[in-house]
Amino acid sequence: MSLQSPRFAPEDRLQMAASNAWPIRNGERSRGVHVLQNALLDLGYSMPISTRHVELNPDGHFGRETLRVVEQFQRDEGLSVDGVIGRQTMSALDRLFPAFEYRVRLHLRAVHGPGELICVVPYETAIEATQRVFGRYGIRIDYGSGESVALSESQRAAFHTIESDCVWNIPAGDMRDLQQVGTPVPANEIVVYYVRAFGDRDLLGCGGHAPGRPACTVRVDAPLWVTAHEVGHVLLTSSFDPVHMRLRQNLMHRNAVPGSGVPMLTRAQVARMKEHPCCERLTQSRPRRSIEIPRTLSFQTPMERQRWRSN
Ligand SMILES: [Zn+2]
Repeated sequence: MSLQSPRFAPEDRLQMAASNAWPIRNGERSRGVHVLQNALLDLGYSMPISTRHVELNPDGHFGRETLRVVEQFQRDEGLSVDGVIGRQTMSALDRLFPAFEYRVRLHLRAVHGPGELICVVPYETAIEATQRVFGRYGIRIDYGSGESVALSESQRAAFHTIESDCVWNIPAGDMRDLQQVGTPVPANEIVVYYVRAFGDRDLLGCGGHAPGRPACTVRVDAPLWVTAHEVGHVLLTSSFDPVHMRLRQNLMHRNAVPGSGVPMLTRAQVARMKEHPCCERLTQSRPRRSIEIPRTLSFQTPMERQRWRSN
């Protein structure tokens, strides 16, 4: 069988398990196991051992606890209880997660001067990569709009290199000015601005924005996952601790360039992101949330500012 769930279908490892070509068994460590554990947790199964790790949570390790939970799931679903995730179990899970539960709308903006090349931003690539990261957690990333904004001579000079420090609450300066450019979007949708360069050459992106205007800024030549990483900052807000993770598999690793494969998020990160006004619940079981972003989120000390520096 071929998996249909937006959570599981893009995960090759799970497709292989679903076809019985390579079932998932006790002892495996993989991203596929992480996605499965996460789904089982969302179904209400308790996994205190697998969720102990702060930066890789659930831990993607099919150990004894996961085995017990898989067996319980099989029992609950009336399947044969063998603790192995193959076609039967994968198919049962697939049916339980038929659709995305949340959505985030992104708008992409590239800026360019007269006569400059426009298509420096691979919009589709950035969107697809972001969809791959968040989709595993039931969050759909929608492509709201994309614009190549032609700049005046003075804007071109001002925005060629963004000199503003990367802080959470951008009060003024060229990054704030940049984030006024282009067609405005609703206050609960996120705009991603692509720029040529930052004054700080180490910076690949910045999740800072003006209060009430969720946005982030990404260098056009930044690696694949940086858009998802900066969107992650916007959704986590500055109050989520830790801002960055040390583990490269986590999307919020400081360099946003994981060793291989799709970066992961922890239970705590996903839970926080789903609380953000830009993360809209698609099923109507909860009331629609306010679209105001708290104005109190700002950095106080140079150390915190430093910590926020994205990459
Ligand atoms: Zn960062």
